[in-house]
Amino acid sequence: MHRRITRRDFINGVAVTAGAAMMPWHLLAADNAAEKSPTYYPPALTGLRGSHPGSFDAAHSLRDGTFWDSAGKPEDTGETYDLIIVGGGLSGLAAAHFYRKAAGEKARILILDNHDDFGGHAKRNEFHVGNAFRLGFGGTFSIESPAPYSAVAKGLIEELGIDVPSFSKYADRNLYRGLGMHSRTFFDKETFGADKLVVHPTPRGGTEAEDAEAQSQAMLKEFLAHAPIADQAKRDFQRLIQEPKDYYPGLTSDEKKAKLARISYATFLKDVAGVHEDIIKMYQAMPHPLYGVGIDAVAAQDAWGFDLPGFDGLKLDDKPGKGMNRDSIPNEEAEKYFFHFPDGNATIARLLVRRLVPGVIPGNSLNDVILAKANYAKLDESSSPVRIRLNSTAVRVKHLGDSANAKEVEVSYARGGKVYTAKAKNSILACWHVVIPYICEELPDKQKEALASAQKVPLLYTNVAVNNWTSFQKLATNSIYSPGLYHSYTNLDLPVSIGGYECARKPEEPIIVHMMKTPCKPGRPARQQHSLGRMELFSTTFETMERNIREQLARTIGPGGFDPARDISAITVNRWPHGYAYEYNSLFDTFWLEGGETPCEVARKPHGRIAIANSDAGAYAYTDEAFNQAWRAVGEITKG
Ligand SMILES: Cc1cc2nc3c(=O)[nH]c(=O)nc-3n(C[C@H](O)[C@H](O)[C@H](O)COP(=O)(O)OP(=O)(O)OC[C@H]3O[C@@H](n4cnc5c(N)ncnc54)[C@H](O)[C@@H]3O)c2cc1C
Repeated sequence: MHRRITRRDFINGVAVTAGAAMMPWHLLAADNAAEKSPTYYPPALTGLRGSHPGSFDAAHSLRDGTFWDSAGKPEDTGETYDLIIVGGGLSGLAAAHFYRKAAGEKARILILDNHDDFGGHAKRNEFHVGNAFRLGFGGTFSIESPAPYSAVAKGLIEELGIDVPSFSKYADRNLYRGLGMHSRTFFDKETFGADKLVVHPTPRGGTEAEDAEAQSQAMLKEFLAHAPIADQAKRDFQRLIQEPKDYYPGLTSDEKKAKLARISYATFLKDVAGVHEDIIKMYQAMPHPLYGVGIDAVAAQDAWGFDLPGFDGLKLDDKPGKGMNRDSIPNEEAEKYFFHFPDGNATIARLLVRRLVPGVIPGNSLNDVILAKANYAKLDESSSPVRIRLNSTAVRVKHLGDSANAKEVEVSYARGGKVYTAKAKNSILACWHVVIPYICEELPDKQKEALASAQKVPLLYTNVAVNNWTSFQKLATNSIYSPGLYHSYTNLDLPVSIGGYECARKPEEPIIVHMMKTPCKPGRPARQQHSLGRMELFSTTFETMERNIREQLARTIGPGGFDPARDISAITVNRWPHGYAYEYNSLFDTFWLEGGETPCEVARKPHGRIAIANSDAGAYAYTDEAFNQAWRAVGEITKG
């Protein structure tokens, strides 16, 4: 709990503005015309973003087996490339970069992506609120990883001109604390019997203050005095943190960890520590930002790794236990490697695109990239060796001939209601693994099965542009955990000013409020929860989401004077039904506990001239893995 602020404990928020209406680019995109229009500028769109309407229809129809019924004969573009990359996320963009290093700058590369913007999860949201310009992250929040970046990943970050250790120069880390603001928990009446905002008993984000212990004690006292939970729950909570107990006397540290790896934290609290149900309800949604599920589906051993209460009396040694999720293994070196751009890792995507396709993003330094406006008309020009084709879903990737001897790969893609083909010497599939069995039918069945098991974690990253944050200041909070509400976390933007961009520093200034939801279904295995949650996100209208957002803000910060009708300037919901890469979980994945080949190792095997990248290929939901897997995939097609 005394770590630096990272995604794991400070899912932070962003983005604001009045106006830009949703444009149905996919309807206009039969030729290159949509992206060539001077009004084509996806970062400024509000409403339902992320996997926006129009981006997934072709892929879903392929999944349902109906796509080819109505697709018509593919039209040959006549284009040939050295490499066609499916997926314009950080893995696909990095693969293009690495390939050019190996094959030379003249190598011809086509990158296809089904979205109207590049970057994959690393998406930029822009807002204008009054005279203020606000940048937000629509997905990938920051450079961070539970384990240290590899030499390859670090090398790329440095090559792009990002000096990670310099982050403190840009961040105003004491802004909220200096105004007396803390993380708080919102207890809702449906779950706890009363709507109440109470100081968090174990502060997220930690505190480095000298009087940290005294502060913790004061917060605990305040929490116990005000939390609307049963008296027994309060006594149990105090016992849990102040009277450590060895629940497994006589077992070694390893034996205890082995037990904890096989039960959920919810089970540990209920059946081992014997605490009141209110405490379990209070912790239920806490791991959402990392796992996309609650404590019913997170192993107690992982909860121990996160310093959640109840484990002190077990006197476990520091060694990571078998089957721990990498997210829950503390690593000091990794924790120091942190950088947040106002638009998250979209800045990395923009830096990569600037190198790959000259003319899209002006400038040549980190300093001038933040405010630079991308010219989407230049992404896909025949004169450029690297072309990025948006609004284009790959629907078939196949060798022309048998995979062992073929000299070429043909890629078919759907765009604006038509299907086109292009050819290349090689292809890298840097897209979501669950899609690959549908587009690359020639892969072995075992590999398809492994690819299909990479169930992505569904998430909503919502950015609400508000005119000011005085209500947050009045309630002395910048970060609200709400285990019973639609979004489980609400945070004021992480204050970072860089490259001419100025964040909000005064409560009277417009700011982005970032809210996070994971639509999980407690009580089921994690993959099933993700699958059901994904369906929920695809079937919920923006109007419903908007109503939930307004109601939630009215309930949580209304008592500080917030009025949704007056104070909200714009809402962008970044919907990611296919969000984080699935990470293995000792409760549901026996191979993760017992050893052996993991599904991602089977899934990423090269097949003839086709290699497979994406963070899914490492079952690790971080940017460094997207880079590592791109590097490996490029190595596979360029060797020999
Ligand atoms: C909300 C959210 C927050 C995150 N925060 C962080 C963070 O703070 N730090 C961090 O390190 N990581 C974070 N991640 C993890 C993030 O996924 C990785 O860091 C990284 O951005 C993944 O890059 P990728 O290229 O592997 O995948 P993606 O970004 O998913 O890119 C793959 C692309 O392929 C496209 N695609 C799929 N199928 C097709 C097809 N058939 N044809 C064409 N294109 C296709 C997809 O639409 C997508 O654009 C976050 C993820 C999410 C969802």
